Amino acid sequence: ARVLANRYEIRKKLGKGNFGTAFLCRDLKSKSKDQENKVLKQIAVGDLALDETVDAMREARLLSRLDHPSIVKFHDSFIDEDHFCIVTEYCEGGDLDNKINEFKKQKACFDENSILDWFVQLLLAVHHMHMRRILHRDLKTRNIFLKKNLVKIGDFGISRILMSTADLASTFTGTPYYMSPEVLKHEGYNSKSDIWSIGCILYELCSLEHAFNGQSLMAVMYKIVEGDPPNLPDRYSKQLDNIMKLMLQKDPDKRPTATELLKLPLIAKHVNKMS
Ligand code: ADP
Ligand code: MG
Repeated sequence: ARVLANRYEIRKKLGKGNFGTAFLCRDLKSKSKDQENKVLKQIAVGDLALDETVDAMREARLLSRLDHPSIVKFHDSFIDEDHFCIVTEYCEGGDLDNKINEFKKQKACFDENSILDWFVQLLLAVHHMHMRRILHRDLKTRNIFLKKNLVKIGDFGISRILMSTADLASTFTGTPYYMSPEVLKHEGYNSKSDIWSIGCILYELCSLEHAFNGQSLMAVMYKIVEGDPPNLPDRYSKQLDNIMKLMLQKDPDKRPTATELLKLPLIAKHVNKMS
């Protein structure tokens, strides 16, 4: 088997994403058996300048210092030939997109209590990063992972590394479903754009459908910029519906911060119950 950096043995390909390819690998230097599985992401850096490579490495080292139970742990980064490689924690439960599709197929739904558990974990993770002035920039169900029924946000800060290096417009081919109106209008990404995306994810957990959907890319983008936010199904509380709508306001300045969301009665009550 192929071993990278004298340490990571490639086991299998997990999939291809916007920025590269993800592999399941075995960390040959891992101290315990249950921690030897890791994810290695290989990103082609192409014609990256030396100073840009140095920036990306510095940024990656910064991310590796972050430690939060609801953020996929960033372990290592290195250059291998013309690839920038990132090694992270492996989440055996798969991603939330798969989980949602599984439930949809079985005609099941998540109960409000479980949704609040996950939603609070997501808010705590986003709060942790925003306090450190790190934005996610690519929050979507495919970037949220399950590990022992806990959720963990993956790829935090990675698009920042890549934005400071490669041209994002040329590498980005992802889904527009979670993009905020201001991002679509090229008015700039800020922490409230992450809040918008979490609002879309909250809607999706409740209804098992995208918050803004349409027959074409243009139709989806038009709904995001012009359409009213949808209602949650009746089985969920009015309070939860209100919270989602606060997060899906078109004007980013009107959206609450993660800190403010954590103080709302329904959320604060749930945080207390969890701890
Ligand atoms: P994208 O986020 O654009 O889908 P990624 O490169 O991040 O692309 O992921 C590719 C695939 O690898 C996805 O199917 C994803 O579910 C899986 N994957 C990524 N990171 C992890 C992880 N930490 N644990 C388990 N699976 C992962
Ligand atoms: Mg990803």
